[in-house]
Amino acid sequence: MMALKFIIIIISIQCLVSYVSGIKSKVLLISMDGFRWDYIQKASTPNFDEFAAMGTKADYINNTFVTKTFPCHYSIATGLYEESHGIVANQMFDPSYPIPNNTFNMKTKDTEWWDGGEPIWVTARKNGLKSAVYFWPGSETKIRGYRPNIWFPYDESVSFEHRINTVVSWLSDDQYDIDLALLYFHEPDATGHKFGPDSNEVKNKVVDMDNVLGYLMRKMTSAKLWQTTNVIVTSDHGMTEIDYATRHIDLSNYIDIDQSMTYKTYGPFSNILTVDGLEDEVFNNLSKAHEHMKIYRKADIPDHWHYKNNRRILPLLAVADEGWTIVKGPEDYNLTVKGAHGYDNRLQSMKPIFYARGPNIRSNTTAFPFNSVDIYPLICELLGITPAPNNGTLDNTNTFIIDNSTGSASYTWSCSTLLTICFIIVFLHF
Ligand SMILES: [Zn+2]
Repeated sequence: MMALKFIIIIISIQCLVSYVSGIKSKVLLISMDGFRWDYIQKASTPNFDEFAAMGTKADYINNTFVTKTFPCHYSIATGLYEESHGIVANQMFDPSYPIPNNTFNMKTKDTEWWDGGEPIWVTARKNGLKSAVYFWPGSETKIRGYRPNIWFPYDESVSFEHRINTVVSWLSDDQYDIDLALLYFHEPDATGHKFGPDSNEVKNKVVDMDNVLGYLMRKMTSAKLWQTTNVIVTSDHGMTEIDYATRHIDLSNYIDIDQSMTYKTYGPFSNILTVDGLEDEVFNNLSKAHEHMKIYRKADIPDHWHYKNNRRILPLLAVADEGWTIVKGPEDYNLTVKGAHGYDNRLQSMKPIFYARGPNIRSNTTAFPFNSVDIYPLICELLGITPAPNNGTLDNTNTFIIDNSTGSASYTWSCSTLLTICFIIVFLHF
């Protein structure tokens, strides 16, 4: 009985020590949209280089399928695959919602579309912290009863410098006292679409974004935020070269689109809902239509995409090979667009960057590539809060996390061990 009491006391103290010494930092999560992992090799990027030397980088991370802006950003924010959080495309159809509320586009803010996942700014608020978001898909919607403490309607015209000044004030100014901030930039995505990933314009935009990062780093230094704030810089997807003129798959060549489909999307993939009774016919026609397009029935979508178990994933999914575009007819060719994303997330061209720096991030470290869904539990760990159920793991990121609340990564373990030994000695003496 006495021994049991001692064991209980030891376990309690171990738990208490672990809790007291856990990380409780501020976190700033930044997305530079469409920043393909190898863009960094295209130009001189002294600020990214310094950021990496002071912190940790991965050559790339593995994002989610489909590799589109809204789904991938929501996977970063929630730690969930797209089939789990329900933002399965930038344009969607939900068969359970009444007309005309059954379609989603990038302006849709109704809660029911977003409630399938719990974004990090909501988890922070549920845990008693304050969160603020300078643009992120979902941040304009009340989700699971919460909004960020501060958020704005999306406005691309706001300068990047103003966004940075604002976010730094949130983290440093007592009047805001924000624990978690998210910050979004729509470049280099916009330039990648317009000119293609191998263009000089993208190379110049990478230099611009390096300067944006440099500006942020100087503002962080002036505000003395590096002692308190861990900063993550990542992106949603990469970019590949396309050419509508020579690499398009025109569905109207193989099927009467208007007569056979009630909902469909176009681009690197197509989500298709057919007219009742025509699913087999559409599947059969499209399955042998084009050597650069595969069509799947929902049940046969490959498991590795984690893109199946959601009612918004429609009965048929067509996926184009890299660089090919599914269109509805010649009027759909957009010859001014030279780059696209949305393809298979296993393609190297679809993978984004990852950098992290701060008081709890190892310096001068290169991490093995991990999954974008691991970022959500990583941020929860850095904030010292309990994550909602998610598809990520800390196993891949704990190699570069430092719990230096007492100056040592191994403090929690060693202190607990020491206390255990002490109690064993006391126990044996009596
Ligand atoms: Zn994007």
